[in-house]
Amino acid sequence: MPQDVTVTFLGGLGDIGRNCAAIETDDALLVLDCGQMFSNEEQPGVDSILPDIDYLLERRDKIVGCLVTHGHEDHIGAIAQGLLRGLSFPIYGSAFTLGLVHYRLDEHRVTDKAELIEVADDEVVNIGPFSVEFLPVTHSVPGGLISAITTPQGVILHSSDFKLDPHPVDGRRTNLPRIGAIAQDPGVRLLLADSTNSDVPGSTASESSMGANLADVFRENAGRRIITACFSSHMHRVQQIVDAAVADGRRIATLGLSMRKNVTLARQLKLLDIPDASFIDIEEVESFAPGEVCIVSTGSQGEARSSLATAAAGSSRWMTINELDTVILSSHSIPGNEARVSNMMNDLTRRGAKVVHSGLVEIHTSGHGKRDELTTLHTVATPEWFVPVHGEYRHLVAHRELACSLGMKPERVLLAKDGDQVVLRDKGLALREKVTSGDHLLLNGTFLGADRGVLGERQVLGQQGVVTVTAIVDFDSGRQLCDPWVESRGWLDGDDADSLRDELVRLVADAVDGELRNPSWDRSSVLRKVRRASGGFINKSTGRRPMIVPVVIDT
Ligand SMILES: [Zn+2]
Ligand SMILES: [Zn+2]
Repeated sequence: MPQDVTVTFLGGLGDIGRNCAAIETDDALLVLDCGQMFSNEEQPGVDSILPDIDYLLERRDKIVGCLVTHGHEDHIGAIAQGLLRGLSFPIYGSAFTLGLVHYRLDEHRVTDKAELIEVADDEVVNIGPFSVEFLPVTHSVPGGLISAITTPQGVILHSSDFKLDPHPVDGRRTNLPRIGAIAQDPGVRLLLADSTNSDVPGSTASESSMGANLADVFRENAGRRIITACFSSHMHRVQQIVDAAVADGRRIATLGLSMRKNVTLARQLKLLDIPDASFIDIEEVESFAPGEVCIVSTGSQGEARSSLATAAAGSSRWMTINELDTVILSSHSIPGNEARVSNMMNDLTRRGAKVVHSGLVEIHTSGHGKRDELTTLHTVATPEWFVPVHGEYRHLVAHRELACSLGMKPERVLLAKDGDQVVLRDKGLALREKVTSGDHLLLNGTFLGADRGVLGERQVLGQQGVVTVTAIVDFDSGRQLCDPWVESRGWLDGDDADSLRDELVRLVADAVDGELRNPSWDRSSVLRKVRRASGGFINKSTGRRPMIVPVVIDT
């Protein structure tokens, strides 16, 4: 009897980001993507939210490799952190994806800890007990791969992030016919498919349809300097910007480290065509008339230190934004970044630039398929079992409903969340809830343990400030040597604070004196008094609850 196969979701089900799953037999584990997610304002100091790497660390001896479906941060961004914690495994992916992985590993100085194994479109590779067929898929980055993973329990088909673009910029279409053939023989036992746009009707516009719109914007801005921003891995968009610029007789310069590196990589791999004569260094830009250049920049999400945000703030070393500039944001804001992008657009406008964004002209299309494309995938793959992945909870639910509307029995669609596991066995698929925590936080460069108390403390510090109250006691005589000290940060301002502080000092001095008259007083009882007296007074007089740090010093 074939052994059971489990799929454990270590991230990406419930939030969009930090995608990672472990596909396991008794003695082998295949990691499927290992991405990161950026934190939100409720997590001050958190650099990054990682998948549940602990699950992999506990099974490190079983790991036979890691598949990376494509080069987006939410799929590759945590690999280096995993390697830094002592994991080591070969990584399989397309040339462009591995190029991006290599940059990340290089940044963290862990390139020697993982062998990068390049796979070609439609290649079949044996990895431990698994045989993986890599199929080309269209998405907003070159080199995306669907994985058809043959396991002891049949084929698990992972869609990767995908859209079904009939006219991809590079001509590399999704290999739907092969998915259809696998569906016929041997059949798709379990489908794991992208749910990002599962609640959006219709289908996503082809990437190549952006080219004509971009060309129009270039024509309308003849004589002006054009600065474009898009995701630095989106080489198909960059290609279309380049084509519009070259047709307009402009030279192209890249701005921003990741854009420069990715463009270099894509040109080496012949995924991006920029005529040498049209390619200039950013240092040369000022020597051309505004209408003769196009700058391709990072910073489409308004990230604080990105090239475009720096220029918008007037502190770029490479360009000074002025009224002869047109800035094209060929992107949409990732949820959570809207305010940053809006601020950047205001800054650019204040400096006189004209800003063209995807709300005005159709110059951005999603990399994720909408309901019609998901319908096509389900119809072609005809899976026996289905688990929606890559989405917020509402996306997962919408994807389940879509699959059921296409004829899947509801009991054949399992709704899993981060930390859940599904078990594929002869008699079918079963859900085991919360076998592991499902995430992992990186706080100011260090890994945060299971106790997340420090995050709560940071929220209090950010919202209410901190008050330190220090009592100075001679433990031998049992007397206070002077008034308590009160220090605060981010609490109250001005005269109010001064008079409240004076009152607080008197109140705490009395409370400590009172406690010292108690024959059984000790350090901790005095500390308690200081904390209670301070907290009660501050709360009553101001209605606030700053963090109170009581200190007792024994002289
Ligand atoms: Zn993704
Ligand atoms: Zn993606």
